[in-house]
Formats: sequence, structure tokens, C-alpha cells
Amino acid sequence: MKGYAMLGIGKTGWIEKEVPRCGPLDAIVRPIAIAPCTSDIHTVWEGAIGERNNLILGHEGVGEVIETGNLVKDFKKGDKVILPAITPDWNSVQAQAGYSMHSGQMLGGWKFSNQKDGVFSEFFHVNDADGNLALLPEGMDPAAAAMLSDMVPTGLHGSELAQGRMGRRDGP
Ligand SMILES: [Zn+2]
Repeated sequence: MKGYAMLGIGKTGWIEKEVPRCGPLDAIVRPIAIAPCTSDIHTVWEGAIGERNNLILGHEGVGEVIETGNLVKDFKKGDKVILPAITPDWNSVQAQAGYSMHSGQMLGGWKFSNQKDGVFSEFFHVNDADGNLALLPEGMDPAAAAMLSDMVPTGLHGSELAQGRMGRRDGP
């Protein structure tokens, strides 16, 4: 399969890799709509997370399930799904303690385009499919839904930390 990868700091290009294998809790997904993130940019051009070689980029998108592991209950081949940028191992000690972002290790929940190949690829691997995928609602535009992978939740989280309020404020 082809994927668009970080070849090294400051270098990108198309590469050829084996289609990932599906474990019992996993899914293999093909992309329908993907979005680049500023994290893809600073990962490559500034080496923000250190050297990575031949790592397929991308962690935002919507896809179609191609294969599921035999322990996956909630998804099946053909389902259209929204992918979160962060895909923790939900049975890890850290996730069970409420720190899913750090499952397995510091920032270990961030796998796509950090610890493993991302979504700028013909196929990609999703660990813990039941815990990490969401069904694309009927009739929702996949390109709009791709904004839910990272941009919308990141913005909302920032707003929560800043204690912003939903709604309109009238008057001075
Ligand atoms: Zn992102």
C-alpha cells in the first residue's frame, strides 16, 4: 500500500508499506476523508517529537472499516467511522486510572503519526476499535466529520480550560 510519510526531519514523500495486520481487538480502515493538522507540519519541519523515519503521517479523518478482529463487537466491515486523533489502549493501567492520553507511557495515547503509521495511507490500523471508533451519523458529510477527529475537540477542550461559556453574550 502507498502512504505519505515523514522520511526524516524536514523530508516527506510517498512510500510503499505492507498493509497492517488486524489483531483481535483492532480494525483495519481505509480513508474516505482526511485532514492535515499543524501537528503533521511541526512533526516534520521542526522535528517536534524527535526523529521519525518512514512514518506515515496523519491522524484526522473518516474511513470505512475493511476488517475487524474477532473480539470487536460494535463495528463491522463496511461501517463508516470517525477516527479520533488519540487512540488509547483502554485496558492499560493509565487509561483505567483516568489518564487515557498517557496509556502505556507519557503521551502513549497518541499513536497515529507518532508511534505508528497514520491515516495518509491506503489502509491504516486502529487499536482497540470498540473503544476508539465512532460511527459516522447517517447523512453527515465525511469532510465535516473529519473535523471531529482533533480540531473541534481540541478547540472545545481549550475553551473549557479557559472556562469559556457556550452561547451568546448580549450587551456590553
Ligand atoms: Zn491533529
